[in-house]
Amino acid sequence: MTSCGDHYTPHTLAFALSESTPPRFIRQRLERCPACRAAQDTLDLWARRIGHADPGVWPEYSTAPHLLTELLALPHRRRLAVVRFDELFQHWGLFRLALEDTREVGYSSPAGAQDLAELALAIAMNLPEDYYGAHPVADQRALAWANLAHVQAADEPAAARRSAEEAERWRGRGTGAADVARRVGELLGAVPVRGEEHDLEEGDGFAERRAAAGGRVLSLLQG
Ligand SMILES: [Zn+2]
Repeated sequence: MTSCGDHYTPHTLAFALSESTPPRFIRQRLERCPACRAAQDTLDLWARRIGHADPGVWPEYSTAPHLLTELLALPHRRRLAVVRFDELFQHWGLFRLALEDTREVGYSSPAGAQDLAELALAIAMNLPEDYYGAHPVADQRALAWANLAHVQAADEPAAARRSAEEAERWRGRGTGAADVARRVGELLGAVPVRGEEHDLEEGDGFAERRAAAGGRVLSLLQG
């Protein structure tokens, strides 16, 4: 078993992938060194959760939890203001975490889910397009509006329909990615059409699709 002596960490591997390091050089280290491959596995997990094409964004997975903890210690209205005015919190990874947490909290505490959905939306609406890209940001705004519509669907059908319209509008400005369209469609499936009530059922499969999207590091190194 060979080892390279100067192992990648998830952060340095992300940096190498996003900068000018030749893919062949990275691939050789990953092939030869188990410790570097461990960094690759961690980075692949981050990539799946982050859902952005640029490896430079993937390490935001590791900084998001403490940012969310800081925000959740504040009163809800103050959180929404902080996200607007402090660029530290205009953070893709923070948005993704707030979006995921909405889903997890939603089963036990609807009020908490609504606060989280509103927070996720505020973060998405303040993500800098010049840094993350206008189309990827539009995808996240579509997801954020759809997520809020999903939370509003049971008790506030009119508000849910307005949020759903925003979700579709932002989806139209996005990358056109099939997984975003599918997820938005699933979330909006809970929104009752005007004058009609129906059972709220959410298609699952989000976790399976995330798992299937693995191997981002290797896909960048191919060719
Ligand atoms: Zn190594």
